[in-house]
Amino acid sequence: MSKPAYRRVMIKVSGEALMGTETYGLHAPTIGKIAADLIEVRKSGVEVAVVVGGGNLIRGAMLAETGIKRATADQMGMLATVMNALALENAIEAAGGSARAMSAVAMPSLCEAYARQTALKHLKDHIVLLAGGTGQPYFTTDTGAALRAAELECEAIFKATNVDGVYDADPRTHRNAKRLDKLTHDEALAKDLKVMDAAAFALAREARLPIIVFSIREKNAIADAVRGTGRSTLVEP
Ligand code: UDP
Repeated sequence: MSKPAYRRVMIKVSGEALMGTETYGLHAPTIGKIAADLIEVRKSGVEVAVVVGGGNLIRGAMLAETGIKRATADQMGMLATVMNALALENAIEAAGGSARAMSAVAMPSLCEAYARQTALKHLKDHIVLLAGGTGQPYFTTDTGAALRAAELECEAIFKATNVDGVYDADPRTHRNAKRLDKLTHDEALAKDLKVMDAAAFALAREARLPIIVFSIREKNAIADAVRGTGRSTLVEP
């Protein structure tokens, strides 16, 4: 078997990715497929950290529009990411893999609290699922992914989305939008291309972390993206 291109990667799985074709919540067959995909990456010899989103259940900014204070709504959003991480942990273990969920917000009876040194140890033997984002309101799990990728010394961030890369315009509204194979952090910034939210992108750029944007909708999308065989956009320093 050829040597994997990466030693350790960060994979950002949004909450939306876990709802499959549904409009809310968790879709078990989709979660099963993502679990199998993550197991394949780990089996190839790559250490895998995953930051799990929560948008399939709660988005703080949207919830705040109902009158709940933003900081509280964000705390509820962080709880949603813990639910998703537990669902993914369960699916990975059910499929014969080994996973450890860790939360930025301590809830010891549900999963381990995040600590960098412990996460680094777990990465040797387990797929490490990082819940709670940064642990702070007003942030997103994209920022959590960039932060953890930097501190856990991941070599790249793989951002699973609903589209197969970064386009020069929004492909949902611009029929002629062109997919870009490769660009630099600076080009993305200059052209105002939304790769991740601003705080996440700034962190990734500062840490000189490559970001690979790919579609989670394809079969084995994560393993293909990490192998470098799937359709994706590489954003690099
Ligand atoms: N959240 C937060 N701080 C963080 C990460 C997430 O407050 O560091 C909250 C925020 O309310 C966010 C929700 O958790 O809307 C779900 O996360 P996100 O929207 O990033 O999930 P995704 O879009 O990836 O599914």
